[in-house]
Amino acid sequence: MIINRFSLKKYFFLLLLLSFTFAGAQKKFTVVLDAGHGGSDFGANRVYPETGRLNEKDVTLAIVLKVGRMLEKNKDYKIIYTRKIDEYPSLLDRTNLANRSKADLFISVHCNASPRTAPYGTETFVQGPDQNKTNLEVAKAENDVIFLDEKDREMFASYDPKSPESLIALKIQQSKYLESSLLFGSFVEENFEKKDKRFSRGVKQQNLHVLRLNAMPSVLIETGFISNYDDAMYLASEKGQNEIAESIYNAILSYKKAIDRNKSVAQEPAKPEEKPLKNDFRILLMSSPMKYNSTDPALKGLSDIVTIKEGTLYKYYYSVTNFASVRDNNLRSAKDAGFQNSTSISFVPDQKLGVGYYTLELAVTEQKLSSNSPMLGTLKDVNRDKVAGKFYYTYGKFSTLEEALKTQKEIEGKGVKNTVIQKVTK
Ligand SMILES: [Zn+2]
Repeated sequence: MIINRFSLKKYFFLLLLLSFTFAGAQKKFTVVLDAGHGGSDFGANRVYPETGRLNEKDVTLAIVLKVGRMLEKNKDYKIIYTRKIDEYPSLLDRTNLANRSKADLFISVHCNASPRTAPYGTETFVQGPDQNKTNLEVAKAENDVIFLDEKDREMFASYDPKSPESLIALKIQQSKYLESSLLFGSFVEENFEKKDKRFSRGVKQQNLHVLRLNAMPSVLIETGFISNYDDAMYLASEKGQNEIAESIYNAILSYKKAIDRNKSVAQEPAKPEEKPLKNDFRILLMSSPMKYNSTDPALKGLSDIVTIKEGTLYKYYYSVTNFASVRDNNLRSAKDAGFQNSTSISFVPDQKLGVGYYTLELAVTEQKLSSNSPMLGTLKDVNRDKVAGKFYYTYGKFSTLEEALKTQKEIEGKGVKNTVIQKVTK
């Protein structure tokens, strides 16, 4: 008996160990390292007798590879490079890579340049509106590369940095990550200043396209001025590149430590004696005439979102629970993410609609879908309505939200994604 109990204990201990191992394996901290410019885009460059032509694209790649090599030795981190060779990934490719990998941190490494040779030192930019003139010049120089790429041109065409609406949208979009980005930026600049004895011009906010659509804390580090002789020699040297890389690496470690600390405070488990409520609660983030896919930055990185269309408005609901403590936590998360006006809405479980029904809106298109489109091939009995010149494709009739959700999940498994639940009340 004693032996049995002992081995049982050992067994549970093993299980405990295993579960920690798996939890640890899942929680790798993912860092995207982005070497600025590349390929046909040389970035800033100057000719010096000591170095020949010194190109920003070469310096940024050398630094990024050094940071990566240090991080790769630490099993807590996963590193994603936007480039490891002399090539030019479009800004959109860089952003998409970062968003798809659900990265925790995005670091874009650059070198500064000025028409004058005097300015020197480092600065780190985070995404955020700021009308400071010199900052705007940096933004312009770094954004100039946009015109190299067809895809980028389309993507950013509608974006006018001068329009107040754009600025407000940007501000809201980035508010969730602004604080974390500033924190990381301050670690970087502090290391440059205190360890490497560089002149730090500080952490600044600016609209930079390479950071704009990122759904994670992101910074752009200007590691020095290629247009300044002393800075250029430092940037070109092995010693300088090593110091810069080490400072960025140490900033990543400090930042992760700070984030982990915050998490352990935030994760208070639900009290075991808490009784479930009768109703379900979802957090209404916003109502909008716009339809956003689940990965759209407008949703600020929140996952577990159900969209319910009522009339012409799409209502975005975050998470569902019947525990009051979890509901309150969810509401707090939504507000932290930047949805200041979010509210919790109660749903009676399995409630049948008195009037009307639920259906799934599959797609809204300008052109009629061809009969061999994948969606129409996958699903039978898809309805098509033409309203005001647009084609609305819907599927199924359900009397409860739960039934609609169930079917939505099923067809998602068949590859029909980004559908919306529509409440039809007439
Ligand atoms: Zn640059």
